[in-house]
Amino acid sequence: MKVLVINSGSSSIKYQFIDTENKVPLAKGLVERIGMSSAILTHAPAGKEKIKIVGEILDHSIAIEYVIAVLLSKNHGVIKDKSEIDAVGHRVVHGGETFSGSVLINEEVMQALKDNIELAPLHNPPNIKGIEAVTKHLPGTPQCGVFDTAFHSQMPAYAYIYGIPYELYKKYKIRRYGFHGTSHLFVSNRAAALIGKPLEDLKIVTCHLGNGCSIAAVDHGHSIDTSMGFTPLEGLLMGTRGGDMDPSLILYVMSKEGLSLAEANTLMNKHSGLIGISGESSDMREIESALAEGNKKAKLAFDIFTYRIKKYIGAYIAAMGGIDALVFTGGIGENSELVRQAVCENMEYLGIELDVEKSGSRPDGEVLISQPNSRVQIYKIPTNEELVIALDTEKIVSEQFSNVAK
Ligand code: ADP
Repeated sequence: MKVLVINSGSSSIKYQFIDTENKVPLAKGLVERIGMSSAILTHAPAGKEKIKIVGEILDHSIAIEYVIAVLLSKNHGVIKDKSEIDAVGHRVVHGGETFSGSVLINEEVMQALKDNIELAPLHNPPNIKGIEAVTKHLPGTPQCGVFDTAFHSQMPAYAYIYGIPYELYKKYKIRRYGFHGTSHLFVSNRAAALIGKPLEDLKIVTCHLGNGCSIAAVDHGHSIDTSMGFTPLEGLLMGTRGGDMDPSLILYVMSKEGLSLAEANTLMNKHSGLIGISGESSDMREIESALAEGNKKAKLAFDIFTYRIKKYIGAYIAAMGGIDALVFTGGIGENSELVRQAVCENMEYLGIELDVEKSGSRPDGEVLISQPNSRVQIYKIPTNEELVIALDTEKIVSEQFSNVAK
């Protein structure tokens, strides 16, 4: 099956057109600066030259129209007719408590997505726009929603209920949901395959470290705890988000600085984390360059970042009663040897022994980076959320058609 995977953000749409049989993208690309007169579409068809188109793309509907056009284009396209797009899979950030797995999108599902907007006001509206745009330009093509929260939906109540009056959970669904589920699921599955054991027999800690960062305890195939919570703000230190903190400090800063709710929200989501502490950058590469030059605040930001990961690994080993594998993924997890080294330092007593040389030698792809005698297998594994979305979409659409046929 050929599946178009769409990850629709507020001003960008990432896409991959994947042949699920060979599990390879036939084309991938990105539309950036949607809403502006100088929007950019970058399209990379497999085996052909990458192209860049700059022009006015005022909304998500036009962006999807361009994506379809470029997939069809004579010189840079990979299909001859729209009907070759068998299905479309969408990344949807927040499934709330409604969705514990991927679903075929219909009117009922759209309504449920709209009902969940309050839980993810920044993420779900652009996801919905992406679905509506596809409905308009590819009418009749089946579409599926794959949720960032779904893999964590089996967490036990003691891991997801906050220590606030229980009525608030009942009334407003305030609880921990967790995000990056598709990535945690993908890399834990890959780690099991590399180890050569079923995922159901393993205890794995997965660290997704990108601009947003989260860590999960994957116990016998289920995420039993994860660091992001009600929103993607909780947990690890991130590029622009501070992660765990005493909630009363927000009220204190608001009163001291006279901040509105919107300003406090911006402070927490955009001006905290690596950028807030270092004053330099939210980008780990720049933090690493600054600390190499002796920048003390960059060093502090780096130390907080890695210390927090180390603490969570310890906590999740305790939660699972052991660990067989530790996985690093995401832009930082896959590429930053300095981060992996700092996180794994002095963890030998837990059976975690990084092979610094292997970890630093930077081969691409899935690499075992623990020492041969390490009790815990340590891996760096490139994540592939798009493939998970494509395969889930294929499964759901095939099931739907076989049900209809019956
Ligand atoms: P997103 O969460 O937006 O998908 P990515 O997973 O691409 O982001 O991760 C982006 C982060 O990865 C940035 O902080 C970037 O600095 C970091 N990164 C990418 N390459 C390297 C590298 N070689 N060394 C250190 N950090 C890196």
